Amino acid sequence: MGSKDNEGDRTLALAEIAVGQIKALRQPAHPRNYEIWYTYATGHHAALNQNINELIVRDGSLSTADMDRIYHAHFAPAAGIDGRGANVVDEIDRIMTTIDAISGTAADYGERLAGVSEKLRAADRDGVRLVVERLVVATKDIERSNHALEARLKASKQEVSQLRQNVETVRSESLTDPLTALANRKSFDLTMQKAMSDARKSGEALSLLMADIDYFKKINDTYGHLTGDQILRRVANALKQSVHEQAVAARYGGEEFAVVLPRTPLDRAGAVAEKIRAAVMAKPLMKRSTGEQLGRVTISIGLATLRPQDTAQSFIGRADAALYAAKRQGRNRVICDADCDFELPGL
Ligand code: GH3
Ligand code: MG
Ligand code: MG
Repeated sequence: MGSKDNEGDRTLALAEIAVGQIKALRQPAHPRNYEIWYTYATGHHAALNQNINELIVRDGSLSTADMDRIYHAHFAPAAGIDGRGANVVDEIDRIMTTIDAISGTAADYGERLAGVSEKLRAADRDGVRLVVERLVVATKDIERSNHALEARLKASKQEVSQLRQNVETVRSESLTDPLTALANRKSFDLTMQKAMSDARKSGEALSLLMADIDYFKKINDTYGHLTGDQILRRVANALKQSVHEQAVAARYGGEEFAVVLPRTPLDRAGAVAEKIRAAVMAKPLMKRSTGEQLGRVTISIGLATLRPQDTAQSFIGRADAALYAAKRQGRNRVICDADCDFELPGL
């Protein structure tokens, strides 16, 4: 859990990268360009970085119009959601207008029928024919209105299903960490609530694993934040690949991860944790841009199993305390909280 100083160093390093890019591309250093390049430097916004990299590969630079488009596309998600909301309102307006028009036609038709029955009372043969002709015209009118309504409803159905899809995309983006594609902190909190309530209902064991990269600040300081981000993605992949389907792996904060393990007692959670620890350190790391060997990255892991009186906070607190015991005991190891009565292989 990074101190304020570390965060200061990190944000200054990102600021330098952002200003460096502005200078290199001879762009005005106004806040919007700075925001774009700062976010680019964090590497947290994969779609933004891909967009920028593609433009640079294509044109060798970024014009003001490019920066405008980039800003619009990646920095106004709220506007996007508002836009989707506005679409729904427009759609409802269109349907209401159509229904109003149809009701008008139907009321008119009703009035015409009333008039017709009045006329029929006194009508001769020609009179009846005239009345029937008028009725046919009025019926055609209402038929046309019904067709219009049907077409409008069909279009609305498509629009609504598109909107439903958009909402689902926004929902899933809001629960995913963009750098690692793991569940984000908000998603972790929701998962924990549900997992704790399920475990209490079913009486099955629920374990929690907290992991933290060892000496990550040093890695960042030595090789740069982009390499740091590459390592975060690698640890995330090791987590994803080492856990069973019901488990949820999340980025808890900066370089700290959590895995919620439903239906998993502590000894089995220990085996999962060992698997993750071994997977992270298995492959020596290489800096992609230079091919430089960077040695092995290790993580420390703390484990806890849900107790009857636990709140989410106390449960996380015990896993976290075990994690810090792992750090104190030398790092690159798995430690479980007080309930642990089995031996972990460790180092
Ligand atoms: P320890 O072994 O005790 O965990 O030491 P550490 O250096 O890993 O721990 P510390 O909490 O002191 O440093 C964490 C660092 O993680 C500091 C911060 O710059 C870095 N960090 C946090 N989030 C990110 C991120 O998204 N990207 C990168 N590259 N670094 C990050
Ligand atoms: Mg940390
Ligand atoms: Mg760390």
